[in-house]
Amino acid sequence: MRSPAVAPQSAASTPRSPCTGETKSGAACQAFALPGRPFCLTHDPDRAADATAARSKGAAVSNRLRSIEGKRQKLDTVSALVEFTGGVIQDVLEGTVLPDVARVCLYGVSIQRQLLEASDLEQRLAALEAREPAQHPQKGQHQWGR
Ligand SMILES: [Zn+2]
Repeated sequence: MRSPAVAPQSAASTPRSPCTGETKSGAACQAFALPGRPFCLTHDPDRAADATAARSKGAAVSNRLRSIEGKRQKLDTVSALVEFTGGVIQDVLEGTVLPDVARVCLYGVSIQRQLLEASDLEQRLAALEAREPAQHPQKGQHQWGR
Protein backbone atom coordinates (compact mmCIF):
# COMPACT_ATOMS: atom_id res chain seq x y z
CA MET A 1 0.00 0.00 0.00
CA ARG A 2 2.65 2.51 1.02
CA SER A 3 4.67 3.76 -1.81
CA PRO A 4 8.38 3.76 -0.88
CA ALA A 5 8.85 7.03 -2.76
CA VAL A 6 6.68 9.01 -0.38
CA ALA A 7 8.10 7.82 2.94
CA PRO A 8 11.57 9.43 2.72
CA GLN A 9 10.07 12.64 1.43
CA SER A 10 7.58 13.04 4.30
CA ALA A 11 10.30 12.18 6.77
CA ALA A 12 12.56 14.86 5.32
CA SER A 13 9.86 17.51 5.46
CA THR A 14 8.73 16.88 9.00
CA PRO A 15 5.59 18.95 9.23
CA ARG A 16 6.13 21.96 11.40
CA SER A 17 2.69 22.72 12.63
CA PRO A 18 1.97 26.15 14.00
CA CYS A 19 1.64 26.69 17.73
CA THR A 20 -1.92 26.36 18.94
CA GLY A 21 -1.31 28.77 21.78
CA GLU A 22 -2.37 32.36 21.97
CA THR A 23 -0.36 35.45 22.58
CA LYS A 24 -1.11 37.68 25.54
CA SER A 25 -3.25 39.85 23.28
CA GLY A 26 -5.34 36.78 22.36
CA ALA A 27 -4.06 36.47 18.79
CA ALA A 28 -2.94 33.10 17.45
CA CYS A 29 0.72 32.42 18.13
CA GLN A 30 2.84 32.77 14.98
CA ALA A 31 5.63 30.50 16.17
CA PHE A 32 6.12 26.91 15.05
CA ALA A 33 5.20 24.23 17.53
CA LEU A 34 7.91 22.12 19.05
CA PRO A 35 8.43 18.78 17.29
CA GLY A 36 5.66 16.43 18.39
CA ARG A 37 4.02 19.13 20.52
CA PRO A 38 1.06 21.38 19.83
CA PHE A 39 2.80 24.39 21.33
CA CYS A 40 5.87 26.47 20.75
CA LEU A 41 8.57 26.92 23.37
CA THR A 42 6.70 29.81 24.96
CA HIS A 43 3.30 28.16 25.10
CA ASP A 44 4.26 24.59 25.92
CA PRO A 45 3.02 24.03 29.48
CA ASP A 46 5.89 21.64 30.16
CA ARG A 47 8.41 24.22 29.06
CA ALA A 48 6.53 27.02 30.73
CA ALA A 49 7.65 25.64 34.08
CA ASP A 50 11.25 25.99 32.91
CA ALA A 51 10.65 29.50 31.67
CA THR A 52 8.94 30.46 34.92
CA ALA A 53 11.79 28.95 36.90
CA ALA A 54 14.31 30.88 34.84
CA ARG A 55 12.31 34.07 35.25
CA SER A 56 11.84 33.64 38.98
CA LYS A 57 15.53 32.84 39.36
CA GLY A 58 16.32 36.08 37.60
CA ALA A 59 13.74 37.82 39.74
CA ALA A 60 15.26 36.35 42.87
CA VAL A 61 18.67 37.69 41.91
CA SER A 62 17.35 41.15 41.11
CA ASN A 63 15.23 41.11 44.26
CA ARG A 64 18.31 40.27 46.27
CA LEU A 65 20.19 43.08 44.57
CA ARG A 66 17.32 45.43 45.31
CA SER A 67 17.26 44.39 48.94
CA ILE A 68 21.00 45.00 49.15
CA GLU A 69 20.42 48.42 47.61
CA GLY A 70 17.67 49.03 50.12
CA LYS A 71 19.90 47.83 52.93
CA ARG A 72 22.67 50.16 51.88
CA GLN A 73 23.23 52.33 54.86
CA LYS A 74 25.12 55.56 55.11
CA LEU A 75 27.10 54.44 58.16
CA ASP A 76 27.99 58.04 58.86
CA THR A 77 27.00 58.07 62.50
CA VAL A 78 28.18 56.01 65.44
CA SER A 79 24.69 54.63 66.00
CA ALA A 80 24.46 53.58 62.34
CA LEU A 81 27.81 51.81 62.69
CA VAL A 82 26.66 50.09 65.86
CA GLU A 83 23.49 48.92 64.15
CA PHE A 84 25.37 47.75 61.07
CA THR A 85 28.00 45.91 63.12
CA GLY A 86 25.29 44.18 65.11
CA GLY A 87 23.57 43.14 61.90
CA VAL A 88 26.77 41.73 60.42
CA ILE A 89 27.45 39.72 63.55
CA GLN A 90 23.91 38.34 63.55
CA ASP A 91 24.16 37.48 59.85
CA VAL A 92 27.40 35.60 60.39
CA LEU A 93 25.86 33.64 63.25
CA GLU A 94 22.85 32.83 61.09
CA GLY A 95 25.17 31.79 58.28
CA THR A 96 23.71 34.27 55.78
CA VAL A 97 26.97 36.21 55.56
CA LEU A 98 30.32 34.53 54.98
CA PRO A 99 32.90 35.13 57.69
CA ASP A 100 35.31 36.53 55.10
CA VAL A 101 32.71 39.04 53.97
CA ALA A 102 31.96 39.94 57.57
CA ARG A 103 35.66 40.46 58.26
CA VAL A 104 35.89 42.94 55.41
CA CYS A 105 32.70 44.66 56.59
CA LEU A 106 33.98 44.98 60.14
CA TYR A 107 37.32 46.27 58.88
CA GLY A 108 35.39 48.88 56.93
CA VAL A 109 33.45 49.74 60.06
CA SER A 110 36.66 50.37 61.99
CA ILE A 111 37.93 52.64 59.23
CA GLN A 112 34.59 54.41 59.14
CA ARG A 113 34.76 54.91 62.91
CA GLN A 114 38.21 56.46 62.66
CA LEU A 115 37.02 58.78 59.90
CA LEU A 116 34.03 59.76 62.00
CA GLU A 117 36.28 60.52 64.95
CA ALA A 118 38.67 62.49 62.77
CA SER A 119 35.91 64.56 61.23
CA ASP A 120 34.37 65.07 64.67
CA LEU A 121 37.71 66.36 65.95
CA GLU A 122 38.04 68.56 62.90
CA GLN A 123 34.64 70.08 63.50
CA ARG A 124 35.40 70.77 67.15
CA LEU A 125 38.73 72.36 66.25
CA ALA A 126 37.06 74.48 63.60
CA ALA A 127 34.47 75.58 66.13
CA LEU A 128 37.20 76.41 68.66
CA GLU A 129 39.25 78.31 66.10
CA ALA A 130 36.21 80.32 65.11
CA ARG A 131 35.98 81.50 68.72
CA GLU A 132 39.73 82.01 69.25
CA PRO A 133 40.46 85.51 67.95
CA ALA A 134 38.08 87.28 70.31
CA GLN A 135 39.62 85.64 73.36
CA HIS A 136 43.25 86.43 72.62
CA PRO A 137 44.60 89.94 72.68
CA GLN A 138 46.78 90.72 69.72
CA LYS A 139 50.54 90.82 70.07
CA GLY A 140 52.09 94.16 70.73
CA GLN A 141 49.28 95.34 72.95
CA HIS A 142 50.98 94.37 76.17
CA GLN A 143 51.98 97.79 77.32
CA TRP A 144 52.01 97.51 81.02
CA GLY A 145 55.07 98.09 83.11
CA ARG A 146 57.34 100.33 81.07
ZN1 LIG B 1 3.16 29.74 20.80
